[in-house]
Amino acid sequence: MPERDSLEVDVLFVGGGPASLAGAIRLAGLAKAAGRALSIMVIEKGGEIGNHGFSGAVVDPKSLLELFPGEDITGGLDAPVSGDEMWFLTGSGKIKAPFTPPILNNHGKYVASLNRLTKWLGAKAEAAGADVFPAFPGQELLWDGDRVIGVRVGDKGIAADGSHKANYEPGPDLMAKVVVLGEGPRGTLAKTAVARLGLDRDREPQVYAVGIKELWQMPAGRLAAGHVIHTLGAPLTFDTFGGGWIYGMTGDIIDIGLVTGLDYADPTTDPHNLFQQMKLLPAIRPLLEGGKMIKYGAKAIPEGGLHAMPRFYADGLCLIGDTAGFLNGLRLKGIHLAIKSGMLAAEAIFEALAQDRSDAAALAPYEQKFRDSWAFTELHAARNFHAGFASGLFGGMLNAALGTLTGGRGFGLHDKLSGEDGYARMRKRDAFAPQMAGRRVTPDNVLTFDKVTDVFNSGTMHDENQPAHLHVADTTICAERCTVEFGNPCQYFCPAAVYEPLFVQNGDRVDGRLQINFANCVHCKTCDIMDPYQIITWVPPQGGEGPVYTGM
Ligand code: SF4
Repeated sequence: MPERDSLEVDVLFVGGGPASLAGAIRLAGLAKAAGRALSIMVIEKGGEIGNHGFSGAVVDPKSLLELFPGEDITGGLDAPVSGDEMWFLTGSGKIKAPFTPPILNNHGKYVASLNRLTKWLGAKAEAAGADVFPAFPGQELLWDGDRVIGVRVGDKGIAADGSHKANYEPGPDLMAKVVVLGEGPRGTLAKTAVARLGLDRDREPQVYAVGIKELWQMPAGRLAAGHVIHTLGAPLTFDTFGGGWIYGMTGDIIDIGLVTGLDYADPTTDPHNLFQQMKLLPAIRPLLEGGKMIKYGAKAIPEGGLHAMPRFYADGLCLIGDTAGFLNGLRLKGIHLAIKSGMLAAEAIFEALAQDRSDAAALAPYEQKFRDSWAFTELHAARNFHAGFASGLFGGMLNAALGTLTGGRGFGLHDKLSGEDGYARMRKRDAFAPQMAGRRVTPDNVLTFDKVTDVFNSGTMHDENQPAHLHVADTTICAERCTVEFGNPCQYFCPAAVYEPLFVQNGDRVDGRLQINFANCVHCKTCDIMDPYQIITWVPPQGGEGPVYTGM
């Protein structure tokens, strides 16, 4: 049987997104300038760098300009923003805002595909001297007491029954002085580290939303490249956090999506179906008619803001990007903050390693560097944005407006508004009459699609002969409690038709099972976040699998 390899590096970045790649580039640059040899590795679960890159996106280029001073940074971007609109959508039309609020003004920004930006950064990281390995999922943190000392990469070639297939290959143990987790929102390794080390002590709970998006190939001239439209209102109800976007991309592509807060009350809320409803609204339908949907995807977004960020350093460990909550919900942007977080972590790590240290005290300057940076100023001004939506859309908008006038203070001019875990706000069926199920639209396969069709367009692939990468700790809870209390909301919130509750009431007994179609999974993490009993754990499948978000 093949033996597990072990490899030593100085710094290991887990997750090949913009935060990690920017961190690797900055660290390599600092080492080169100081004439020091540092081994830097980036590992990524997707088959290629960028395959799992998913975002809106309108990118603020400020951190790219800092990362590549004096260089042309447009190679990773799509088109400069050429127009900016804000629409309030209703069932019969739209109300266009007379002006775009200054905080949402996108002049000088760029529409972009995160998939392409990430590939561009990946090439830059390799050119800077980092070793970049796609198809290497970080499966498990390796510890020495409470100090992180490395990461075990997931094995390949394990059959569904746990036996080793002919292509079995144990994942190597990558030992590092510092492990930097840039796994995206709700990172698997970060979740274990935060819980074990209490990194979220005295912080607000992180709350999330899920973004659902399609790319449409349109007839020439439908929407100018760089034209940006953000929407509020329909199809979301006033008590559901979220909003939509429509961006014109080069090549006559429309990038359209909807964000739904993962702190809704109605257990029949189905973010994928809400997105289908959005496309049928009278203000949206004419934009898409005559076009062809070419790509689909979904991903969670950390919306909690500054107060929900965990302590992002520990012995041998740093957290960056979405994993650490570097996202400004008010500005609908996170990529520039993710890049900045990677750079700041790299600077702190470089200084710590120069003293031959990587303990928490030596890495703590990462936090101070953040506090001294524009990233902190920006997140501080938006710190109460999401919490203000606890009282609904209009309360949230009022709170956001108040925040822009008061340096981010919320209702009652409180410095900090408190919230609760999003899943805890889901209401049981005996206390709440679900509404959303009755509003579902039936896909027409022209403008609207079912989840399985959309999954096909995400390019998702998993070998079905492997253990499911969605672990449900106790399916008797699904059968005996969830069917009654919430009506198995996993069948609604998963945007990829992974969960099929096949339960049947048989007298006072429930028969049947929860079928998990894990091969459909687009790695959005919604189930890990929104399951009301918190018994679903998402872990990476074998390396190189999942979605292929070309152009997304
Ligand atoms: Fe997202 Fe979970 Fe569904 Fe996968 S199974 S697509 S992570 S909700």
